[in-house]
Amino acid sequence: MRDPRYDVLFEPIQLGPVTAKNRFYQVPHCSGMGWQRPKMLAAMRGVKAEGGWGVVCTEYCSVHPNSDDGAYPYARLWDEDDIRDNALMTDAVHEHGALAGAELWIGGNSVANLSTRLPPLGLTSLPNTADDNYHPVQSRRVDKEDIRNILNWQAAAAERAVQAGFDIVYVYATHGYLLSEFLNPVTNQRTDEYGGSLENRTRIIRELLEVTREAVGDKAALACRFSVDIASNEGYDAFGLLADIPDLWDLTVPDYGIEMGASRFVKEATLQDSVAKAKSLTTKPVVAVGRFTSPDTMARVVRDGTQDMIGAARPSIADPFLPRKIEEGRIEDIRECIGCNVCYAHDTLGVPIRCTQNPTMGEEHRKGWHPETVPAAANSEKVLIVGAGPAGLEAARVLGERGFDVMLAEATRNLGGRVTRESRLPGLSEWVRVRDWRVGQIEKLPNIEIFRESRLGEDDILAVGADHVFLATGAGWTVDGLGRRRDTAIKVGSGAIVVSADSILAGEETPAGHVVLFDDDHYYMGPVLALALRGRGNEVTLVTPAGRAGAWGKYSGEEYAVTRGLIESGVTIVTNQCLERVDAGSVTTSCIFTGKDSTIPADWVLPLTRREPDDALFQTLKSASEAGRAGAPKTLHRIGDCEAPGMIAAAVYSGYKAAVELA
Ligand code: ADP
Ligand code: SF4
Repeated sequence: MRDPRYDVLFEPIQLGPVTAKNRFYQVPHCSGMGWQRPKMLAAMRGVKAEGGWGVVCTEYCSVHPNSDDGAYPYARLWDEDDIRDNALMTDAVHEHGALAGAELWIGGNSVANLSTRLPPLGLTSLPNTADDNYHPVQSRRVDKEDIRNILNWQAAAAERAVQAGFDIVYVYATHGYLLSEFLNPVTNQRTDEYGGSLENRTRIIRELLEVTREAVGDKAALACRFSVDIASNEGYDAFGLLADIPDLWDLTVPDYGIEMGASRFVKEATLQDSVAKAKSLTTKPVVAVGRFTSPDTMARVVRDGTQDMIGAARPSIADPFLPRKIEEGRIEDIRECIGCNVCYAHDTLGVPIRCTQNPTMGEEHRKGWHPETVPAAANSEKVLIVGAGPAGLEAARVLGERGFDVMLAEATRNLGGRVTRESRLPGLSEWVRVRDWRVGQIEKLPNIEIFRESRLGEDDILAVGADHVFLATGAGWTVDGLGRRRDTAIKVGSGAIVVSADSILAGEETPAGHVVLFDDDHYYMGPVLALALRGRGNEVTLVTPAGRAGAWGKYSGEEYAVTRGLIESGVTIVTNQCLERVDAGSVTTSCIFTGKDSTIPADWVLPLTRREPDDALFQTLKSASEAGRAGAPKTLHRIGDCEAPGMIAAAVYSGYKAAVELA
């Protein structure tokens, strides 16, 4: 039963000519599927609608080949074929009583049109600004004819959106695309009626709103995505000029690093003050994101008039059934987003999004997986899972829900494995939700028994005599320095001190003084451990063969905040260098381009280059099975880092996959 405190979230709301059944609004978000993978996309959005979202939108949806984001999968409405493809999604969304929204998108200088090969349009002819890709592409300056074309492209795409079945159609006036360039007095140097005064700089948005309204008539609501920032009046002045034109405002802030910030840097409801001020300037409904996962926060921002609808991208990815769970009073079942940005990273990589918390995300069509239902087991055979990290916990949960008789053995007192250890590091506290949600679900199931402080060996496992054994024993950081860059071990002189990352993760004491952290891992661990060691009072130098610290953070949108944090905390960053030798009191590095050696004073070294799978038990059990030893299981599996060390999302996925596929 729903808690009456949350009733306000289930009140219908009029959006121009259409009505949303509740206040849960999946804002436009990238999926890594776009026009290339329409069936995958339709299934994914359909599951969100099934999970209770009142509105489900597309990702950015190109109006014309002049808005082409190349390798980043985007939606599009260029022609009849696109209408058909998009209708797959709107049908899937309508099937569950939700509205479908199309975020019509006009590129600008941040897209390079690499696929369509048209010169990108820009207000000033400038080199392409996309995500530090440094494409050797420069935009063509927009003239009056281009403006007329843009208006026509938008109108035609809006008509196609209605034909495809969309109920909400956007003018997308933020995120650095062409309309942002019009609004910005720095990029907009026009001297005609589209430049100069604020009124002139908002003119094209007004005209786009008008032509879109005319194109959709009373068949769809008109929405506008727009940015405001409490620290600056300009956005509010522009907003004020347009305030009552659309039927709905989808508001955000200009800094994408805040809107989409990882939980290391940005917490729930961060946009609140910026949004509230704009809301007070319009009579129209407002939706805004804030990585909302707490129903109390959601109800509060609607009740106190900050916004009318709860916008969500990541929370709807981590839990497509979030609204339903609130409605059914199952708050503890909500699978809260951890703010790791693994979803976003994979869109940036041009592949379907995935989610650390929700292993079914992106697999709704391809594998037919569903976030809330798993196939029932044909029998209640006995399953033993060894290791309660993210892979083991996920496998236990799924096998338990399927009806198997599950035993989960964990060597230590603590469940959660690496998640428990890593979530103690600076900024990663929300990651513990990966453990907590799974443990919460497991505790509800009478057919799962947990054995803590139970380090099992081969004989223990054979003595259990389980029908199926899953080894989820994890992996450990090595100290040899082998990895991407090095295929021979680092040379270690006498008296040199080399410490494993696992010591820090285990909370053990580490030496004082100056540490050189050699980061050939390139994801979050290097920068986070550097901060942890600063916190312990060490002087820290992070040496990386990459051009930047935590270079993979480019994909997850964390790179700038990560490097800023390192610089501000006093970590020295040395790029394009490989660690060669460790001696007492110094290390030798070599330039990755010239091979020239340099020396850095150091009291000790922390190599972060690779993890060794802890698969010895798997190998002995495999031999035992092959030898037909008594008690050997019918099937033997290794999952997670014990199979192949990877990100937490991969361990959860591995656990889910093995468990859901067990015949
Ligand atoms: P993953 O990310 O693949 O889930 P983790 O390293 O997070 O891997 O977790 C592995 C877990 O397995 C750890 O909690 C560890 O204590 C446990 N473990 C390792 N070997 C054994 C064993 N022989 N018996 C029981 N538990 C084990
Ligand atoms: Fe949240 Fe991470 Fe899932 Fe993205 S991948 S929705 S940030 S938990």
